[in-house]
Amino acid sequence: MLKVKGLKAYYDEAEILRGIDLEIEKGEAVAVLGPNGAGKTTLIRAICGLVRSEGEIVFDGRKINGLKTHERIRLGMAVCPEGRRLFPNLTVEDNLLLAGDADELETVYSLFPRLKERRKQLVKTMSGGEQQMVAIGRALMLKPKLLMLDEPSIGLAPIVVDAIGEAISKIRDEMDISILIVEQNIHLAFRISQRAYVLVKGEIVKEGGIEELHDLEKQYFEA
Ligand code: ATP
Repeated sequence: MLKVKGLKAYYDEAEILRGIDLEIEKGEAVAVLGPNGAGKTTLIRAICGLVRSEGEIVFDGRKINGLKTHERIRLGMAVCPEGRRLFPNLTVEDNLLLAGDADELETVYSLFPRLKERRKQLVKTMSGGEQQMVAIGRALMLKPKLLMLDEPSIGLAPIVVDAIGEAISKIRDEMDISILIVEQNIHLAFRISQRAYVLVKGEIVKEGGIEELHDLEKQYFEA
C-alpha cells in the first residue's frame, strides 16, 4: 500500500528525516514510535507532501513524489493530525461534511454512535475523546485506503485511549483501511499494530514485529 525508500525531509536547511525506509502492506497497521522531536510528525507530513522531501514514495502502486497534497489525498490517503485541527465553533456534522459527502456520514456514525447522538453539538463543547472521534471521523469521510494518525492518544484518559484503540482496530479490520500510527503511547501502538518502526533523530533505529519489540519501552522510552 505504501513504500517509502530513502526518504529525507527538510525544514529550511535542516535535515529532519535522514533516509527512512518503511513499508505498509494492504490491510496492515504499522506503528512509528519514538521520543519527542524524533521526526514522527514530519514523516507524516512528508508522505502527504507538506514538507520538502527527497527519496521515493510509492502509494498504491504509484510513485507520488511529484504530486501535490490534494492529489495524494484524492488517491486515497488521509491524515488525522496532531492536535486534531477541528473547527471548534462548528457542529460535529459540519466538521465531518467539510471533508466529504453526506453519503459517508453513516459510515462514521456506525463506527462512533456517540457522534450521531451529538451531531448537532458544537465541537468546542465536547470532551477530548469525543473530539478525537470527530477528527478520526473526518479523515474517514475521505474514504481513504491509508489512514495516518498522529498521536491520537495525546491528552486522553486511559479508558478513552482504549475506546479509540478499539475504533482504530475496527477501521483496519472491518473497513479494510491500512493504518500508519505515530505514537508515544507504546501500549496503544502495540494494541493496534502488527509491526513497528522506532524513529530516533530522524533515523529508523529498529523495526520488527510487535513481539520482538516489546522491550522497546525500556530501551528508548525510559532513558
Ligand atoms: P513530537 O512528538 O514532539 O511531535 P515528532 O517526533 O513528531 O515530535 P517532529 O514534530 O516531526 O517530531 O519534529 C522533528 C524536528 O523538526 C524537531 O527538531 C522540530 O524542532 C523540527 N521542526 C518541526 N517543525 C518544524 C518547522 N515548521 N520548522 C522548523 N523545524 C521544525
